[in-house]
Amino acid sequence: MLTKLSIKEAHQGLKNKDFSSEELTNAYILNIEEKNKDINAFVFKTFDLARETAKQVDKKIKDNQEISLLEGLPMSIKDCFCVKDVESTASSNILKGYIPSYDATTVKKVRNLGGVILGKVNTDEFTMGASTETSAFGVTKNPHDLSRVSGGSSGGSAASVASEMAMYSLATDTGGSIRQPASFCGVAGLKVTYGRVSRFGVMSMASSLDTIGPIAKNVEDLAIVLQAIAGHDKYDATTPQIKVPNYFEELKKDIKGLKIGIPKEYLNDKLNPELKKIIEKTAQKLKKMGCEIVDVSLPHTEYAIAVYYIIAPSEISSNMARYDGIRFGYSVEKEDLEIKDLLDIYNKTRAKGFGPEVKRRIMIGTYALSAGYYDAYYKKAQKVRTLIKKDFDDVFEKVDALLTPATPGPAFKIGEKTADPLEMYLEDIFTAPINLAGVPALSLPAGKIDGMPVGVQIIGKHFDEETILKIGSKLENK
Ligand code: GLN
Repeated sequence: MLTKLSIKEAHQGLKNKDFSSEELTNAYILNIEEKNKDINAFVFKTFDLARETAKQVDKKIKDNQEISLLEGLPMSIKDCFCVKDVESTASSNILKGYIPSYDATTVKKVRNLGGVILGKVNTDEFTMGASTETSAFGVTKNPHDLSRVSGGSSGGSAASVASEMAMYSLATDTGGSIRQPASFCGVAGLKVTYGRVSRFGVMSMASSLDTIGPIAKNVEDLAIVLQAIAGHDKYDATTPQIKVPNYFEELKKDIKGLKIGIPKEYLNDKLNPELKKIIEKTAQKLKKMGCEIVDVSLPHTEYAIAVYYIIAPSEISSNMARYDGIRFGYSVEKEDLEIKDLLDIYNKTRAKGFGPEVKRRIMIGTYALSAGYYDAYYKKAQKVRTLIKKDFDDVFEKVDALLTPATPGPAFKIGEKTADPLEMYLEDIFTAPINLAGVPALSLPAGKIDGMPVGVQIIGKHFDEETILKIGSKLENK
């Protein structure tokens, strides 16, 4: 089965001329045609573009030219990335009809390497959510059980990889959006260090927390995609000019002697007891491979959700200001003849274009930033964020990486958490602190609960993706 191959296997197959990129691409397209109507991962399909790229790659192979590792391999892109000449909406009605005139830096990199773009995949509206239920395109169902969510916000990315509708996917993580859906769908996901990968051309949610990373079938594939997208970009001032390691080579190195901490605050009463056992089992495996497991503490963990849900909405309220019915996508101006003035366009476009979760966050954020409340909420949250970050700085003086759950439990049922926003926000308890600290973290399939996959999370030091990838790769081969 062509769609089962890993990146390296598929690359080798193309080079050996065992099959062509067109054949591989068609195999994925066939899966999309069969499965997407049930799963609803793809929201825009670009099959013509995909086949055209595949043909070009096949020509290169026929001419015995060198091809890159990602060349000719079919992939999907979360709908919040700008893809030139392809509708890009962040799964929001307010961006309906918006066709970017340029590629996001990461998309451009993949395109320049000969990546085959199959289409855009579903996300919670502007990536706000943990289930894709806030998407204007409706929920993406979990390939392992269609009555359950695929997670979010990158549910389309995770479901597309899990159901072999894409080999890997480009996604974003602001508070858990790569790691939680990866865990729910039984695939691997990497949230990078803040600044490791350029965010240029991706619709911002909360700018001090937003990161871009891959979701893939396994850790080696994550490393290959990371290699392709990491590094400084003159269009994103948060990407430092530091060397990008050779992740692929790093994976081969031993993990013997590494110190891995388990923070006690993450084994709390919110955690599914079965998942706690999976964490313990994972720790045992690491011990057998020569790692030292130590108990550690991140004392400010309990404040992370409160802090995140002040800082993220504050930044959201500012980032959403640009959707005004004039510059991008949908405008009420074209359909409402009663429009009085410019303000009326703004108000009516935003009232109709944004869904309830986005509006909720704009209101919370505007409130938290307003005169009189700024010190009590936003400034206080920033101070506690510093303490949360310091917890990680302190613990990484003692250990090389941390092992925690990625989610409180396995995928929940569709509709189970939509009535109470706080219930949905609590999905992020084990992931949001990592975004507040800016460090990298990997979500890796580690077991099953009631037949549903669940992942564990491995958290690393700033700009030390190689260590967590190395640990993840050893674990998945055990
Ligand atoms: N679930 C979190 C939220 O709703 C995280 C979203 C994300 O990482 N984009 O804010």
